Amino acid sequence: MQDFWFRLSLPMVFGGMIALMLWGIFSATVALTFVALLLLVMMTVHARQLHRLGTWLQDPRIDTMPEAGGVWDEVFSRLHRMVKRHKKTKQELADELQHIEQATAALPEGVAILNEANRIEWCNPLSQEHFGLNSTHDFMQDITYLVRQPEFVEYLQATQRTEPLVLKSARHEDLILSIKLISYGGDKRLLISRDVTQLERIESMRRDFVANVSHELRTPLTVVNGFVENLQDMPDLGRAEAQRALQLMSEQTQRMENLVSDLLTLSHLENDHSAMREESLEMRALLDAVLQEGRLLSAGKHTLQLEFSGNEKISGNRDELRSAFGNLVSNAIRYTPQGGSILLRWYNRAGQPVFSVQDSGIGIAAQHIPRLTERFYRVDRSRSRETGGTGLGLAIVKHIALRHQAALEVQSEEGRGSTFSLVFSVARTS
Ligand code: ADP
Repeated sequence: MQDFWFRLSLPMVFGGMIALMLWGIFSATVALTFVALLLLVMMTVHARQLHRLGTWLQDPRIDTMPEAGGVWDEVFSRLHRMVKRHKKTKQELADELQHIEQATAALPEGVAILNEANRIEWCNPLSQEHFGLNSTHDFMQDITYLVRQPEFVEYLQATQRTEPLVLKSARHEDLILSIKLISYGGDKRLLISRDVTQLERIESMRRDFVANVSHELRTPLTVVNGFVENLQDMPDLGRAEAQRALQLMSEQTQRMENLVSDLLTLSHLENDHSAMREESLEMRALLDAVLQEGRLLSAGKHTLQLEFSGNEKISGNRDELRSAFGNLVSNAIRYTPQGGSILLRWYNRAGQPVFSVQDSGIGIAAQHIPRLTERFYRVDRSRSRETGGTGLGLAIVKHIALRHQAALEVQSEEGRGSTFSLVFSVARTS
């Protein structure tokens, strides 16, 4: 600062000294004229610098800062430092903002900032996706004009919100959102949205599963209960009748046992995430055993044959593959009327080992095929139950196929029979 005043007063001091000299040598008029001229020159210089400063301030950039001498040099260098500091702070703020934007974009949840009038002040990409918003057009729009579902509007207007709102998206058919509103900073609100489609689906599958298992168990239990009551009410029931009741009860308990056994198998397959125990399997012996088991089950009602032309050995889990092959053969027997034929084949298709079971049975209409591996899905309920089916066989086969990286293929035509094939990868042959 001292330097500033020194530089500013320097020309005045020099001018004053010259004016005094001129006064001594010539006259007071000459000295005054010199001072007037000096002041005029100084005013012009300062006016010019002021003008340059004014012009530069309209667009203050470091590279266009004017060169200046004298006191103005000090002024401009201070401005230069100020602009530089400002530029640095601006850059730091921009970096910070970008950082926050990147972090919110990476959030697995949609986030939108609403003001007290429900207008959107900002939202991250996921929030845009969840509510079908457009960050440019919908900025400062009332969100209740864009998402009009009554339950959503009610949730925003509620004064007490304890539970998040579960909302089916009106824009995306399959999307289910869990929505939470959090107040902050006085009158601002954070609208957090989470995609819970998968969770809801699992929850609904769990509910269906429990309902299905209860339903499956209720029927045989009711039958057994009925017989037990009958036997209690009629202690002197004839031996033949009692025998018949016991026989029917035994069928029902067998049905429950099959169901529990399939449920346990399925649960074991679903929950076992450890590496599968694998070994090299002698396919001829394994398939012969499956064929014999099938013949026993059919009890001479069908012709069962095995065509073996594929690899002698593949790697896999013996118990699981035997159970999957056995399930396919048992289905073929149960859904093929007496006198029909069933062909088991083990062959290579473009290097891939394939196990297929072809039957001449009742077949399946095309619309049912994609759903056959769902738990408890049955085309013909009564036939499945009459033949001791649990509705879980193909779900088990699908799981075993998955664990062996194999594909389950179904070809079928109603009334003309079906072919179920398990296609393994070439890697299993080495
Ligand atoms: P289920 O115990 O009822 O047989 P699965 O899961 O094994 O249950 O099969 C599901 C449904 O697929 C069966 O109820 C049946 O309608 C149909 N299905 C399976 N295999 C055959 C087949 N070989 N021929 C005709 N329908 C079949």
